[in-house]
Amino acid sequence: MKSKVNRQKLQEKLDKLRSVGQGGSSKLWTPKPGIYTIRALEYPHFSKEYEDDIIPEFWFHYNITKGSTVCLEKNFGERCPVCEAVEKMREPAREDKDIWRQMVNIQASPQAFLPVLVRDETETDGTPMVKLWRISKTVHAEIIEQILAAEEEEEDNLMNRKNGVDIKVTKIGPTAQKKFGEVNITVKKKQKPIADSEAEIDVIIAKIPKVEEIYARKTEAELDELVTKWAEGATDEEKSSSKEDDDDDEKDKDVDEKLLDNLLNDDKEDDEEDEDEK
Ligand SMILES: [Zn+2]
Repeated sequence: MKSKVNRQKLQEKLDKLRSVGQGGSSKLWTPKPGIYTIRALEYPHFSKEYEDDIIPEFWFHYNITKGSTVCLEKNFGERCPVCEAVEKMREPAREDKDIWRQMVNIQASPQAFLPVLVRDETETDGTPMVKLWRISKTVHAEIIEQILAAEEEEEDNLMNRKNGVDIKVTKIGPTAQKKFGEVNITVKKKQKPIADSEAEIDVIIAKIPKVEEIYARKTEAELDELVTKWAEGATDEEKSSSKEDDDDDEKDKDVDEKLLDNLLNDDKEDDEEDEDEK
């Protein structure tokens, strides 16, 4: 039994060593294959209208340009040229499957960000590692389930400062079946405070990043321009089917971005499958 534990420790160490220099200062937590212990934290930056939420969500458009585009309407209640383009397609999309596909491709979709304290790891400056984790719908649902179950039992939920519980995260590397790997979570049983003292807990809570500070938003004018370009591209695409391949090559230049987008598009594909099932 003992050798098994040591092997795990070594694996963790190896993952840690490998992750050095790869976005160590990033505000996002992107676990490499391995086993981690984390604590989910309450998001302290909700605006008034979302104060009843538990886990923050941020809305993005994809496929308008390389990477993701912050939605101005869903996140800030402002005019969003991409949402406008989506609305314009809604009517014709009922009769034209191609238009429907284009519409689904660019419509805003939510991404949940769970604030986490990564146990046993520290930032390069020695302070606790507190980040936002872009969670999948599966992980999001599991955490909400746990919170509801605790509510039913009238117990403190897993995020509670003193009586919460840690979560074991297992990230399995890419396999033939799952080309972006797989993440499994197990909620631990033993109650444990976030940190030993209230002061330390406050330091950790104060370190939770704001989602909107991670993703730079484009201006309305910039989005207008992107939508115009996208509309031209969408027309070209009908003429030449090789365009899609070119885009993929473009994306290869930014591996991290591509990986994140792929993870997200994975979710999006699930959505589309759901749509088809109806
Ligand atoms: Zn939008």
